[in-house]
Amino acid sequence: MSSITTDPAGELVLQGIGVSPGVAVGDAVVFVQEGAAVSARVISDRDVPLEIARFEEALIKTRHQISGIQRKVADALGEAHASIFDAHLLVVDDRYFVEEVIRNLREKKQNVEVVLNEVAGRYIEMLSRVEDDYLRERAADVRDVTRRIVKNLAGERMDRMDQLERPCIAVAHDFSPSDTAGVDRRIVQALIADIGSATSHTAIMARALEVPAVVGLHDISARVNSGETVLVDGGKGLVVIRPASERLLVYAQKAENQKTFLCELETLKDKPPETKDGYYVPIAANIELPAEIPGIGKYGAKGIGLLRTEFLFLDDATLPDEEEQTRVYSEAADRCAPDNVVIRTLDLGGDKFSSAVKMAPEINPFLGLRAIRFCLANPGFFKVQLRAVLRAAAGRNISMMYPMISCLSEVLEANQILEECRQELKKEGLPCAEKLPVGVMIEIPSAALTAELIAPHVDFFSIGTNDLIQYTLAVDRVNENVNHLYKPTHISILKLIRQVVLAGHARRIPVAVCGQMAATPELVPLLIGLGVDELSISPPSAPMIKEVIRNLHYSECKELAERAMGIRTAEDILVRCRELLAKTSPEILELIS
Ligand code: PEP
Ligand code: MG
Repeated sequence: MSSITTDPAGELVLQGIGVSPGVAVGDAVVFVQEGAAVSARVISDRDVPLEIARFEEALIKTRHQISGIQRKVADALGEAHASIFDAHLLVVDDRYFVEEVIRNLREKKQNVEVVLNEVAGRYIEMLSRVEDDYLRERAADVRDVTRRIVKNLAGERMDRMDQLERPCIAVAHDFSPSDTAGVDRRIVQALIADIGSATSHTAIMARALEVPAVVGLHDISARVNSGETVLVDGGKGLVVIRPASERLLVYAQKAENQKTFLCELETLKDKPPETKDGYYVPIAANIELPAEIPGIGKYGAKGIGLLRTEFLFLDDATLPDEEEQTRVYSEAADRCAPDNVVIRTLDLGGDKFSSAVKMAPEINPFLGLRAIRFCLANPGFFKVQLRAVLRAAAGRNISMMYPMISCLSEVLEANQILEECRQELKKEGLPCAEKLPVGVMIEIPSAALTAELIAPHVDFFSIGTNDLIQYTLAVDRVNENVNHLYKPTHISILKLIRQVVLAGHARRIPVAVCGQMAATPELVPLLIGLGVDELSISPPSAPMIKEVIRNLHYSECKELAERAMGIRTAEDILVRCRELLAKTSPEILELIS
């Protein structure tokens, strides 16, 4: 990320990673995680008065809070106990202390939290060394008051996200998938964060909720103050703090144009996703939350190609039992009928954790006990979900797939547990699916390379490119520092996709792609050309992807894939992909670049 410009009007333009499209303007609310460390930041001359004002405001707030506590203590315990807080008020009102912070701030040009901690540290050190007991105890007062001021400088606590009342732009170091799942779309106009990438589960959740989002902004949570106006362009990954009025005007027009174009695309909802020469590419939906299900019909996708079941586990302090899971899966299938719903078994771990499921901390969670590995290690826990899927699938159009399969043995082991569940349900006299189509996600290179061994044992493949790219290229999918190395068009990825397609087709099983590649307009012709049978994407992306497909000839896709296989660099392949999109769907290329 680079800070592009600061202009005399005080506008600060930052480039991050746009992960969920849309334009929003609003007042920032900065969220902090409890206990989060304060990072140092250099400030410009122009920002010094702003930083001093921030400090003064935090002092007023702190004084107000301490007086409030003092009053409560006086009421409850009497004046004598309340007088302890006089010492705290003395610290806040100590002009020498306050002036020293301001002087240091002017000299060092660092954010006030850092300067304040340094000055307070010196006071604490000095006071703890004096002989006088009374003065020594004042060190604790300085420490307490400093903590309170820093907290007031920081912003809102993350757990208040669902208590926001006024529309705002939410700013944080990071948002967890469960923070994001709790977002009220009418209140939170956009999300911006220091870290993250397009395939982090936070980004996936933001797209699902249709909230514009930009991540990978490095230190935005320290640069912006609550209450400042922020403009967010989630498509371009641009964030402007204190935007100038001319820019706001340009953006208002841009947002209007985008809206009109997207509304036009939505009229495609009932048209088939087929190329000009009649090659049909089904588009199914990726669903993170049941609230998205109405969007499937609205945006013209068909059925669910990936039901991420983690939502059932992210938020709750208690685990969803078999009955609840059976109900949720049945409802999803009933709402999509007669189209198919592919339920993915639990994919916890990596960057998705649940407060209800205890998982031991790991140094490298993406390579750890994630997804099917966790389920196979905890068969009692896994069986609850498998039984629920089998029960929901009785008389419904449901399939199931396992995530993060690395070898055939895991598939066989999972299928064996599935069979045990079926037998148990039968014994108990509970209706369950006699034949449940079972597929696997191909998202680990070892599975892609041995797809021909796995194919005879499954009914379909679904390629999870988000993870396949991360594991093939050894690039952490949520780390913005290596985002430039995360290359969907790396030739190794194309070779693996091709290999999985050939292995699937040799056994006459369909091969879908459900990673973000399938929702990336310029990469869709490439996937079709590589032989992928179906795409599964977040519902709001469906109109655009349908438009891309409808403007293509199948022969162009084949030709692109053939040529790409002979090109050596990811960048050159991407250029070819963009050239084809520029020729066939120029308005879409314009919209996304
Ligand atoms: C993927 O890895 O591409 C995928 C679809 O699964 P998830 O993003 O949930 O890991
Ligand atoms: Mg995955």
